[in-house]
Amino acid sequence: HLSQRLATVAQHIQQGDRIADIGSDHAYLPIALVQSGRIPAAVAGEVVPGPFHLAEEHVAQYGLAAQIKVRLADGLAAIKPADRITAVTIAGMGGTLIHDILEAGYQQHLRGTERLILQPNVGENRVREWLLAHQYAITAEEILEEDQHIYEVIAAAPSAAPVHYDEADLYFGPFLRQHPHNSVFQAKWQDRLQREQRVLRELQKAQEVPTAKAAQHQHLVAMIEEVVE
Ligand code: SAM
Repeated sequence: HLSQRLATVAQHIQQGDRIADIGSDHAYLPIALVQSGRIPAAVAGEVVPGPFHLAEEHVAQYGLAAQIKVRLADGLAAIKPADRITAVTIAGMGGTLIHDILEAGYQQHLRGTERLILQPNVGENRVREWLLAHQYAITAEEILEEDQHIYEVIAAAPSAAPVHYDEADLYFGPFLRQHPHNSVFQAKWQDRLQREQRVLRELQKAQEVPTAKAAQHQHLVAMIEEVVE
């Protein structure tokens, strides 16, 4: 009974993966993946005691305590070498937080071979910036709408070949921007264009002289106008 959002994350988990779900909250994602037989084992990490206990309760209710280790830990510190994790999922939070979790823990807690399946609610460009800076190649992207929210899912893997993304790739997604007629993609960027134009008008009203901030919004507006139909 996964939401469409989490089911889309789950689609990018391969048979036999061992996953670490960071910021697991209810732990529904690892529970569904173990129950369906897709994966043999998982770690569910949570930094907040309330959700941590909720995850423990759910895992116990489903009788999966042997397969799913629930750990109270900050970010990637939930992962131990003995877990032999092959894929890390981080879903349902802002892109800046996902960026910060990866940056804080990747050196110490990742082996560098794990695939990453990331589902930022906002600020997707921050996530892609991190992937680019650490030479992960984006292997797939999804965009979906559920309960009036638009979500993106980004799957990535460490790359031996050099990875290049330009600014439009970072904002729109190197895969998503190849399908600009997608109605969800259009809905997202039409809405964002209106918001950016509103911010720009406010800045211009308040300032006689264009500021660096206004220039930044102006640049973003021009970039979005390129993809909006
Ligand atoms: N991943 C689930 C999903 O997509 O449905 C839950 C999303 S929930 C909105 C975000 C969770 O991330 C919260 O339970 C929060 O406590 C947890 N979280 C935030 N920062 C964290 C961190 N640094 N390490 C671990 N968990 C974190």
